[in-house]
Amino acid sequence: MTAATPRTAHAPAAPPQEAHASAPVETHCPYCSLQCGMGLRRAPAGAAGPPAEVVERPAFPVNRGALCGKGRTAAELLAPGARLTEPLVRDTATGRLVPADWETALRRVADGLARTGAAYGKDAVGVFGGGGLTNEKAYALGKFARVVLGTSQIDYNGRFCMSSAAAAHQRAFGLDRGLPFPLADIARTGCVLLVGSNLAETMPPALRYLTELKENGGRLIVVDPRRTRTAEQADLHLAPRPGTDLALALGLLHLVVAEGRTDEEFIAARTSGWPAARAAAMAHWPELVERITGVPVPQLRAAVRLFCEADGSMVLTARGPEQQAKGTDTVGAWINLCLATGRAGRERSGYGCLTGQGNGQGGREHGQKADQLPGYRKLADPAARAHVAGVWGVPPDSLPGPGRSAYELLDALGRDVRALLLMGSNPVVSAPRAAHVEQRIRALDFLAVADVVLSETAALADVVLPVAQWAEETGTTTNLEGRVLLRRRALSPPPGVRTDLEVLNALASHLGWEKGFPADPEEVFDELRRASAGGPADYAGITYRRIATEDGVFWPCADEDHPGTPRLFLDRFATPDGRARFVPVTHRPAAEEPDEAYPVVLTTGRVLAQYQSGAQTRRVPDLNTAAPGPYVEIHPRLARQHGIENGRPVAVTSRRGRAVAPARYSEAIRSDTVFMPFHWPGPGRANTLTNPALDPTSGMPEFKVCAVRVEAVAPEEEA
Ligand code: SF4
Repeated sequence: MTAATPRTAHAPAAPPQEAHASAPVETHCPYCSLQCGMGLRRAPAGAAGPPAEVVERPAFPVNRGALCGKGRTAAELLAPGARLTEPLVRDTATGRLVPADWETALRRVADGLARTGAAYGKDAVGVFGGGGLTNEKAYALGKFARVVLGTSQIDYNGRFCMSSAAAAHQRAFGLDRGLPFPLADIARTGCVLLVGSNLAETMPPALRYLTELKENGGRLIVVDPRRTRTAEQADLHLAPRPGTDLALALGLLHLVVAEGRTDEEFIAARTSGWPAARAAAMAHWPELVERITGVPVPQLRAAVRLFCEADGSMVLTARGPEQQAKGTDTVGAWINLCLATGRAGRERSGYGCLTGQGNGQGGREHGQKADQLPGYRKLADPAARAHVAGVWGVPPDSLPGPGRSAYELLDALGRDVRALLLMGSNPVVSAPRAAHVEQRIRALDFLAVADVVLSETAALADVVLPVAQWAEETGTTTNLEGRVLLRRRALSPPPGVRTDLEVLNALASHLGWEKGFPADPEEVFDELRRASAGGPADYAGITYRRIATEDGVFWPCADEDHPGTPRLFLDRFATPDGRARFVPVTHRPAAEEPDEAYPVVLTTGRVLAQYQSGAQTRRVPDLNTAAPGPYVEIHPRLARQHGIENGRPVAVTSRRGRAVAPARYSEAIRSDTVFMPFHWPGPGRANTLTNPALDPTSGMPEFKVCAVRVEAVAPEEEA
């Protein structure tokens, strides 16, 4: 890949490679961050249905052949009827989206972006990416925004996923990789404290590691306000009020100190900042923590006993503690617990984040995040700018500075950001305060969306570009372990469909950049390797060939002779002095606590058969049958107080809006809390209700807790 160069003539994209068709092509699932290995076998010529079938790939070490229903049905969307196969442009006379040829559609996108930039300034053009984009796409999209558009206004939906854990990781360890050890280590530790993760529903093949942990004599503690399928397998289930995980972690640390269970030798040798963190924890005595969280003191003591007496322990967090306006501090409190007990920087122990989206890890490393350059470099760092600008062949001063976080960017649409290019995201369903976000999107002067299907956001666009899917293009992802993987192209895209890299190549060309944006993924990856070289997430030694022969390579990997780094921090942490940093944190209430008008807590999450905004999985018949629509999980006691019948519509109202969905009685949820999954648009859209209060460090919205009231829907409204 070459440096970016202004062009004078359009250069066609390089033809993509075609995989061999006679045997299953080894690849990875398009959905979550486990990135399960699978095979894709082409369907016989002329066969009805999808053009390929998913087969197991038992030799891949992470999932060992196991797949959940989403992975098993992943080929369904490859069939032409289920997806977009021609560009759409909005007809100015009728206001409808109508088919168009690619040249017309691309020209309209290029004109829309260029016109806005010329009229209102470069930062009036925004770019919104996604945590499902491959490393190559995330890299190319970030480069496109900063080099071609010259805008600082780029961020992505991964901000809504694990950004708080990423920020806490950086703060404590000097480096953010979701898991600093392979998943297989989970089965070999003594105790896992799983906070706000329902693995049984979100990534079922990973549950085997918890099963093996228990078979090996290890113990499992689950922290979750709901008694989920995962919590049912725990030796101890703590069910705090949503939004109080920070107090819970501080209470456990208080008990660790009070019971003399700290690892003073580890603290002295490998950490800094303990006195202040210790003092903060000592202000959270057990009875106070019981009052805040609702978790009884004997359960707190039992958790400390299990965690500290085990031969090795881990804390794993997911969206529960992370999707809060104090998510960074909450994760920081769990990290402090690990550090104080010497459960970090050692084999079979440590803190890890279970990243959510398919490329949630790689997607946050290579430049589509508002404050970042490739290799997890900081956009505000002059040395980082100079290095990356050198690889890109542009002056460092030409690169814009850091932009806004995802919600702030969405909130600015139609105001100072007037045109948007969006790839791999559906914020109309997945963003907090979604009705407001939808309004902001409608207020744009120009919106272009590249997507596989006509998502709810694509339906609002001026131009929709139909792009290839996971099985139709080669690219790398980085799973939750930091293992860089190769998704191989198994099929050609149907006629009328292009890859995202081809789209960026063509748009760059239309906007005057003849070189620097190739469509060949390996060429892009090779440039990414150079751009990341020497950075925190160093991919310099990772090649397509190595990934294929080694079942993935763990970053950092500085050169082709480097074996990769499955386990981080064993000798030193990635801070300047090599010590992990305690950060003193204190509990504070949720941004919106229940009150007289809104007396119930709403928490949101995912279900087994749907994925994120559901744009893909809602179009797969088997998944739709398994999980056909939204619901409100409610304790029967709370339901009866409000005259709400099981299966009947219930209205859930917050300060931001109202959603209606059938009630689903469950004794597995606290009686002061209701739960809604967020995969659906329309009247049951959970994110109509959620609170966009942001974590000041990570920019994470408070998806996991807001105040609502619940009411039975009157028969006349039902009718
Ligand atoms: S667990 Fe995740 S990666 Fe594995 S098959 Fe299911 S959705 Fe795909």
